This record gives sequence, structure tokens and C-alpha cells, in this order.
Amino acid sequence: MKITSVQAYKTNPQAFISQNKAQQSNVMSQHYINSQKPALTLVDVNYNQLLINKKTTNFSGINKTSLKLLEQPPLEDKLAYLFNSVIDNDLIITGKNLQDAKKAIYNSLDKIKQVIKKAYFVEDNSLTGTLGFFKNETKHNINIINPNEFDLSIISTQETIDLKNKEIAYLTPEDLVIINGKIIPIKDKPDNDLSFLKTSFVKIFDFTQDTEQRIEQINKKNIASLIPEAKKKAHPVTFKDVGGQDKLIDELKKSIIYPINHPKGFETLDVNHGFILYGPPGTGKTHIARALANEANANFVGLNGLELESKWIGESEANWRNLFESAKENQPTIIFIDEFDAIARARGGIDEFGDKVVNQILTLMTDIDNEGSDVYVIAATNNYKALDPAIKRSGRFGKHLEVGLPDAKGLKQIFDIHAKKKPIDPKVNKDEIATRLFDLKASGADVKYIINEAHINGYQRAGIFEKMENNTLKDSDIDNFTILPEDIDKAIKAFIDSKQGNTRKPIGYTK
Ligand code: ATP
Repeated sequence: MKITSVQAYKTNPQAFISQNKAQQSNVMSQHYINSQKPALTLVDVNYNQLLINKKTTNFSGINKTSLKLLEQPPLEDKLAYLFNSVIDNDLIITGKNLQDAKKAIYNSLDKIKQVIKKAYFVEDNSLTGTLGFFKNETKHNINIINPNEFDLSIISTQETIDLKNKEIAYLTPEDLVIINGKIIPIKDKPDNDLSFLKTSFVKIFDFTQDTEQRIEQINKKNIASLIPEAKKKAHPVTFKDVGGQDKLIDELKKSIIYPINHPKGFETLDVNHGFILYGPPGTGKTHIARALANEANANFVGLNGLELESKWIGESEANWRNLFESAKENQPTIIFIDEFDAIARARGGIDEFGDKVVNQILTLMTDIDNEGSDVYVIAATNNYKALDPAIKRSGRFGKHLEVGLPDAKGLKQIFDIHAKKKPIDPKVNKDEIATRLFDLKASGADVKYIINEAHINGYQRAGIFEKMENNTLKDSDIDNFTILPEDIDKAIKAFIDSKQGNTRKPIGYTK
């Protein structure tokens, strides 16, 4: 029977549906009567136990009074039974043979947006083509997908839907699905209870364990990607880019770099895995930690105490464990926690969040100490006094290192570092500037800011911005440009202005 009757349906839907239903029950009963291979199944007389499938059975010797042969139910009943027993993440497939059905479904998988944990395959010789069904996650009724190259029709009392290759529609009871001339009525339940028969008509492929493992892997990978893990060399700074902190660098080398690079030398020497760097804002605590990670060829994980509450890592123990696990897996790793006082403030139990987080960090650090992993936690703060004394004493953060404001020599070094790539005019007297900056109690971040501001001042003075605006800028304008002492003076003046009130964050402070 070839169904080409969509037009007919549109002209007179009711007549079409009743005609089709009549034809179809005819087709079905003929199918059962004429089928060369009626799929008979052996059950006990109480219909509650599947004993054996006829295809593989020798009936001689079986006590006929206690056994009964049952015809296989029609496809729509098998499907109705499965529709009622499947859950989300189950896929029902029906087709002539598993090989073709698998191929068809495989090619349509891009449209099935849920993980398939179990596949139920119902073989049906009368089908030419394949059908896929799964639960609609939101509406909880059944979706049908057409994995065939040809169109299917779904006839409901209201409309006819032509379902093209890979298209999905949801089904309601009373719908008719028409596939290559075969009509499958959608039922909300089968005529008989088929639970005892199901193993005879459905092959179940259970991927639950495998998919759950994979889901876990995917979740882990996704969550891991949230860890703000700076890739190696993402900030390609080294100790050469740090000025005025020679003593500190020396200490960090002995405490972290040498143990990483020369473990033999530390077999009988205690190694600290926790450090507190403290000092005014902009003195380069983050900068130094990054340089340290690069010098040690270690991974760098940067966290910020202020952001922790809002960030994914929050107070979840599992997240912290994962973070430390990943740090261990990728060791050597430097975990840098900026603004540590935001979570590690002395608070007398008022802020539960901070207490929980700090306790988790301390516990994980104990493991690292015990295992001797190459994972180092560096906590930085501008407010050392505010840190909880219990944390300072805990022994986990065994070294507390001050990152103070640089002296004049240090400021000159920092000036040179940041001026390296800038066109500083030879007329600029760096020593004199360093002294002025020292008097102004400038930090490394301030120096960086002042040099950049001076550059902008110079562009303004030389009319470079104007030329940019008028599109008359030539390469030679940039090549011939230098930053003059007056540009730097102006930047220092702006810096002094910004300092008034003395409550500043350094104006050059950028993260
Ligand atoms: P905060 O305590 O406010 O977090 P911080 O001490 O971590 O500040 P950084 O963020 O490291 O300071 O400094 C900001 C920028 O200033 C750095 O990226 C770096 O470019 C520059 N800087 C700061 N200190 C130095 C230094 N000693 N040598 C060279 N550059 C520095």
C-alpha cells in the first residue's frame, strides 16, 4: 500500500483517517495471518514468564498443558509498551534489521541533543526504513525522529506533518505514523501487558555505565576549563622584568625554584609549600609570582580572594579538591591567591564563607606538605595585619615575605624595565626621575603608569593623535618620536595629583 494521500487528507481529514485506520487494521491482521515467520513465543500458562523463543526451540517433550504459545503483539503495541517504560536518555529504534537501523540513526545523531544511555531495538520485518523515538525532556511525551532519506507522514486529527530526514516531531496518542506505506498507530498503552514478553521483542543495549563515565569526563574537562589556569608563557615575564626586589627573588629561588629543580638537595631539608607575600598595592606581588612560575617552568593558577565568592570555585570542597588535584597532576604548579585577606581575615567566626574556604585550603596544603608535591601556594595581601593570626601561625604558610616599596635604585631598575620598549629621549635623566619617584613613595605599578602617561603626553605634544584623527600619520612620525623630559614631568604631576587624599590605589594599577 503506497500512501500518497496527504492531499486527500487535506481535502477531507476525517474520512482519510478513518479510511486509513480501517486499511491499517486490515494490513495488520493480514500480516499476522500471512506472515511466513510468525514470531511465536513460549510463555507459561499464567502469562507471566517468558520461557523460550520459538525460533530456537525444539518443542518435543514439552508439557503442552503447562505452556502456551503466544503470538507476538503488533509493532504499535510493542512501541506503546516501550513508550511507557522508557525514561529520558533512552532511545527506541525500530527497523527491519539492526545493521540498517544503526546506520540510519547514527547519521541522525547530530539532531538528538540528549545523551543516549540505553537503546531499545525492536526488529520488524514489515518496515522498510527506520524510526527513532525518545522522550521529550520538557513535555515528557514521545518524540519521533526520521532518520531515513525519505519523508515520513504523521497524521493527527488536526494536521498532517511531513517529517523530512533528521526532523523531529512529538507524538500524541491517536497519531498515525506512516513510513513507506506502513501505518503505525500511536497508542498510549498496549492492548495487553507485555512486560513478560519484552525480552522476546526488544534488544536492550545499556550504555549507562560507559556514558556516565564519559559525562563525568566531559564535566570535569568543562569545569577544569573554568580554572583560571594561565597557560605557560601567557605572561612571559621573568625575574629580569622585576625591579628592586632582589632580596625577595633570592629568597623565592631558594624556597621554590631550587627545590623544584634540584630535589636531591632537599631530601633532608624542609620545603615550604605556603607563602604569604605582603606589602603595599602595586609593588609587584602578582608580577613576581608570575615571573617565579615562568622561571620554575611551572603552571600558574591565579585566584582572587575578592572574587572567590562569586566564582565557580566558591566554597565547594570538590572544586578545591579538583583544583589541587589538577595542580598536582600538572606539577610544578604555583597557586597564587591575591587579596587573600578578603577570605582570611580575623573574624571570630562571623564570615562562614571565608572560614570554610580557608579551612579547605589549609587541609589541601597539609596533603601537599605530606606528599611533598611540587605545588606551592602563594597568598598575597596588602593588609597583613588583618590576616587571621590562626592562619599566620598555622604552619601551612611557613614563610611570610615582605614586598616593600622599592628604593631609588630599585625604581631606576623598574623605570628601565618599563622604558625598554619605549622611545625615551636621551635627554631624560633617569637617576633624577628615580629619586623623585622615591620621594613620592612610588610603587612599581606607579612607574609603569607614569611611563605610559608620559608616552601619551608626548603623542599629544607632537600632534600624533591629531594626525591619527586626520589620517595623515606617517610611519616616520612614529619613528622620529621620542618621550621628552617634559612629558614625564607632566605625568609625574598627574600622579601627584592623583595621590592627594592618600587613599589611592595606584593610578597605574591594572590587573
Ligand atoms: P596588589 O597588591 O594591589 O594586587 P601587586 O603588588 O600584586 O598589587 P602587581 O599587580 O604585580 O602588583 O603590579 C602591577 C604591575 O606593575 C605589574 O604588572 C608590573 O608591570 C608593574 N610592577 C609592579 N612592581 C614591579 C616591579 N617590582 N618591577 C617591575 N614591574 C613592576
